[in-house]
Amino acid sequence: MSSETKCKCRRCGGHIIFSVENFKSGTVIACPHCGEKTALELPFHLEYAMHLRIAIGVVLLIVAAIAIQSHFKTLDAALDKTADSAAQSFGGHGK
Ligand SMILES: [Zn+2]
Repeated sequence: MSSETKCKCRRCGGHIIFSVENFKSGTVIACPHCGEKTALELPFHLEYAMHLRIAIGVVLLIVAAIAIQSHFKTLDAALDKTADSAAQSFGGHGK
């Protein structure tokens, strides 16, 4: 699926249609209207959506990292408790 969007030429203000999939920030093309070179820009909502996607990805990574870390902490705590009670049952009755 290819979604197209358009931006305005910085020189003449003419609409330039381009594919969102092929968009790279800072891409400079020759304007089809005036022939001058102009940088492609994503419309605000698309740029926002792209940043939002990256932000959500980062947040998910952080949440996953925290979840994994706390999972291991609880696992460690559980193992410690098991080790403690094992030590108690072994050492506690000997006295
Ligand atoms: Zn132009």
